[in-house]
Amino acid sequence: MGTYLRITIISESSPAAHAAARAAFDAAAGLDSALSIYRPGSDFSRINESAGRDTVEVSARTMEVLLACGRFHDLTHGAFDPSIGPLMRLWKLQGEGNVPAQAEIDSVLNLIGFAKVFLDPATRRVYLPSGMRLDAGAIGKGCAADIARFALAQHGVTRCMVDLGGNVATLGKGPTRGVWAVGIRDPLHHNRLVGSLEINDAALATSGQYEQYFVRDGIRYGHIVDPRTGRPADDVLSVTILAADATTTDALSTGVFVLGPGDGMALVERMPGVETVIVTDPGAAGCLTRDHVRLSGGLRGKIRWAIS
Ligand code: ADP
Ligand code: MG
Repeated sequence: MGTYLRITIISESSPAAHAAARAAFDAAAGLDSALSIYRPGSDFSRINESAGRDTVEVSARTMEVLLACGRFHDLTHGAFDPSIGPLMRLWKLQGEGNVPAQAEIDSVLNLIGFAKVFLDPATRRVYLPSGMRLDAGAIGKGCAADIARFALAQHGVTRCMVDLGGNVATLGKGPTRGVWAVGIRDPLHHNRLVGSLEINDAALATSGQYEQYFVRDGIRYGHIVDPRTGRPADDVLSVTILAADATTTDALSTGVFVLGPGDGMALVERMPGVETVIVTDPGAAGCLTRDHVRLSGGLRGKIRWAIS
């Protein structure tokens, strides 16, 4: 998945903790082998290669991920769409970057739409219409973090934190005052924080355009694409989501990023157990203050601010 996986375990037994961690790393790696679009022969690669030709049988786990993709696609009214593959290719967002002509964007927009992907959970078969291409980049890390946390729990671990490239999931009491505190980065200054949140038996993820992007003619293009316009989304600077599981936080952080502060916040406020921190652009002022940070109802008074 092109990133790190860090596991922290609090346990009385070091050998037991190591054995549990080993199992969790293996479980996460197993999911990477199924979802990767860079590994030939992975479930997602086979689906993409068979587009317009054949149905493909996938593992039960891959089918679960695809069904989750469908749920979050519906929930975000299409803002989260793992069928953005053709746009990722056009913009070369997984490479050096390219700014396509509007006509080129228009020519692939009809290939985008997760609702067009045919899923049959009973036979675990998937059919992708011709020209379409799936990309699990916005949900795979969250799913893997959940699977790793589950593997740890199955090995008897009761207190742990899994961090897969910023997709965090915790279990039990944390190391300091019994809590796990997670920092939310200032998207404008890498080594500064906006603030931090305590997450117990919960998950947290942040989506932003500040880590993966390319610059052309002084314009910054990020790697999160708005499936409606076919262009990188740039309404907000970052979206952090807090929820019970990391699949939800990964998918929703990307989806809410695309939806923007208005529709994004409204969606989160409708979902019980889900909270968000949306960092908006201070514009020419350049300096981020609390006025640029929007919190969902459940987080007011819960954030430990690092900015004024
Ligand atoms: P990160 O990978 O940095 O944690 P995200 O979770 O937001 O960030 O995922 C971004 C990745 O998801 C992109 O690199 C791309 O593979 C994919 N993607 C881009 N736009 C969308 C979208 N609107 N819906 C679903 N997946 C997307
Ligand atoms: Mg995501």
